[in-house]
Amino acid sequence: MSFSYAVISLLLVAVISFCINVLLQSQFQNYVIKQREQKNSDIVGIIEKQYNAFDGWNTGVIANIGVNALEQGVIVKLKSEDGKTVWDATVHNNGLCVQMLTHMSQNMNSRYPGFKGGYEQKVYSVKAGSREVGHVELGYYGPYYFTDNDIAFLNSINTILVWAGVFSLVMALLAGAFMAKRMSGPISKSVKAAGQIAKGNFKQRITETSGTREMAQLTDTINHLADSLEEQENLRKRMAADVAHELRTPLANLQSSMEAMIDGIWEPSGERLESCHEEIIRLNRLVGDLERLERYEAENASLTVSEFDVSELIRHILHNFETEFQRKGVALSFEGEPEIIRADRDKISQVITNLVSNALKYTPAGGHTDVRVRGTEHAAELIVSDSGKGIPSGDIPYIFERFYRADRSRNRMTGGLGLGLTITKAIVEAHKGTIIVTSEVDRGTVFAVCLPKS
Ligand code: ADP
Repeated sequence: MSFSYAVISLLLVAVISFCINVLLQSQFQNYVIKQREQKNSDIVGIIEKQYNAFDGWNTGVIANIGVNALEQGVIVKLKSEDGKTVWDATVHNNGLCVQMLTHMSQNMNSRYPGFKGGYEQKVYSVKAGSREVGHVELGYYGPYYFTDNDIAFLNSINTILVWAGVFSLVMALLAGAFMAKRMSGPISKSVKAAGQIAKGNFKQRITETSGTREMAQLTDTINHLADSLEEQENLRKRMAADVAHELRTPLANLQSSMEAMIDGIWEPSGERLESCHEEIIRLNRLVGDLERLERYEAENASLTVSEFDVSELIRHILHNFETEFQRKGVALSFEGEPEIIRADRDKISQVITNLVSNALKYTPAGGHTDVRVRGTEHAAELIVSDSGKGIPSGDIPYIFERFYRADRSRNRMTGGLGLGLTITKAIVEAHKGTIIVTSEVDRGTVFAVCLPKS
């Protein structure tokens, strides 16, 4: 990883340096061309000044201007208005002119092989006030020429660029190595921890904190994954223990009763057969609960939706519960206006039955259970509250989990396998609804189911 990072850094620095170099060269060429144009207009200006000062051509002064210009690489040819040559650098010193241009060409070609340059000229008119008094032809090596000073300047800029590039490269490599070291430690720890979790070691956690946000998110996610896997594993173990326990007791009772009757120790009286029958009913109920859960989880998506009055449905269900409540001595009340919802009637009836039967199961004699229906514009809320024994706060987060029972020491005949609320929640969520519980130990419990109307 660090090798490819070094190569990428090197390439980046090289590309950036190359681009800066090209940009600088072209800017500098523009600057040199502008300077030359400025020099040309300066020469024309001096020639005009000479004409105005002497009110005519002074060949001595013009020769001075011409020689001066020649020293700066400009070949001056001045003609008066009537076309006569006043001064011509090629006439004055043609050898020097040719030598100068050859030197310039050699210079540029040696520094920039294949440079396309050559002699160029421009004609300017010379004026005295608004009157044209002649023409000056300025010749030079074009399109541009770098003097020794210019080249020295460009070289020094290039040297600075090279050093800046080297410096940036070193810094980038150092920063990269630092970052890689900072990242690779936590990454390899995360990989190790994830490997352990994959092997089933759900206790594994990453304790090291990372300064990098993404790394911290990754370790958090892995830790959460381990949490939920550990929880699932505990649930699974508890389920196996629960199923075994729930099956063992009725089976052992049945076995000993049957053996006693076969051995002639017990008379197969109606009472004994009745008790064996009760155990078989209980076994059947457990198997039925397991089957129902499996079915609800598998069929979650398939709802047979119809429009019905949920208050009417609840009244009907409560009517069937009345005798059981009376027998236990728990008061049952209902309050609610007609509320039409679109839902799976059978499944909603299962939800109400589960919540009401739980309220009955966990409310002692003398208590009460109240069912209410409240309607809003878009939803219907079904509330089942009781004055029963309540649920300890530590158990509340788990009561919707499969096979979870808060009061694990209660009489095994009191309830089911801890599947009722799991099924209830699965049905409510299939309807895109919510179920929430609030409870206080020895004061009572409230389950509130919110179902969207459509
Ligand atoms: P179970 O078949 O054991 O009743 P549920 O899934 O219906 O299973 O409920 C899970 C657990 O939640 C119960 O074992 C019980 O401890 C607790 N619980 C549910 N409803 C109530 C309630 N109304 N009052 C007190 N505890 C309740």
